[in-house]
Amino acid sequence: MQILTASGKGGFVLDSKNLKSILLADDIIDKPAVVISVAGAFRKGKSFLLDMMLRYLTASDKSNWIHEQSQRGFPWRSGFRRHTTGILMWSKPIPVTLSNGTGANILLMDTQGTFDNKSTVHESSTVFALSTLLSSLQIYNITGNLQNDDLEHLQLFTEYGRLALDDTSSKPFQKLLILVRDWQYAHELPLGAGGGSELIKEWLDTPTGKKELEKVRTHIRGCFGQIEGFLLPHPGQNVASSPNFTGSSAEMDTVFVEKLNELMPQILAPEKMTVKSIAGNSVTAGQLFTFFETYANLFQS
Ligand code: GDP
Ligand code: MG
Repeated sequence: MQILTASGKGGFVLDSKNLKSILLADDIIDKPAVVISVAGAFRKGKSFLLDMMLRYLTASDKSNWIHEQSQRGFPWRSGFRRHTTGILMWSKPIPVTLSNGTGANILLMDTQGTFDNKSTVHESSTVFALSTLLSSLQIYNITGNLQNDDLEHLQLFTEYGRLALDDTSSKPFQKLLILVRDWQYAHELPLGAGGGSELIKEWLDTPTGKKELEKVRTHIRGCFGQIEGFLLPHPGQNVASSPNFTGSSAEMDTVFVEKLNELMPQILAPEKMTVKSIAGNSVTAGQLFTFFETYANLFQS
């Protein structure tokens, strides 16, 4: 369901009716919310990844999830044109028991139409900022390699988000996962979480001696409670460019399947899940609705 749409005049409209139907449902409203968002440039496999997460979360057998047939959830497709700019949320929250025994619901969020030829920097930054503010895990999806541009963008979006918060002293956002797609340098940094964490260290912690770069890095470190990385290989030509790709695992490269299998529990195992918290307090779905309204209003203009 579309929950936030660009008005075309630089502002955004919250689709309250849709959002209410998801967050204010009787069995959802009072339970803690785990909010997972995927953001980044368009046509880089964000919606596809969310679909895989949905498949994992709804699989009857988690050890065999990737081979299970699943409904198509988020609209992903080949072709170069984008969908409407804004934020989508999967209409059915997924119940989960956290490792401390409490029940919570997972809400999956997709961002669309950012950084393409039709969105302005302001629109793209707003979508990124809002999705970062409202999620407990933001997955920053990039392709090929991490570059200074990606970090500068991240700085810009998080600055937007930080401005929306009154309290700028503490870390405003929770978890960030920098997910690199089509990683080609496995001989230098291995695929998966290990290589991802080395990449993050190199980019965020190794001194460069350059003031400007250090400033960006310090800002990003200061914004998130936790930053992780993960390197995924190219998924194979069927996934990357065939218009007939159905989403079946048989059409994906085996190494890609293997690494997707590693990625899913890393973000979706109960002990890895982070409940959305704002100013240190965990947030229920009902409270999240209020935050959506508040933040969407702040980004009206
Ligand atoms: P989004 O605009 O970022 O949401 O991208 P989509 O999820 O709609 O995917 C766009 C295209 O990229 C589809 O044809 C997918 O099958 C394909 N795709 C999905 N994952 C990957 C990946 O890891 N690498 C490459 N090269 N293509 C991918
Ligand atoms: Mg998409």
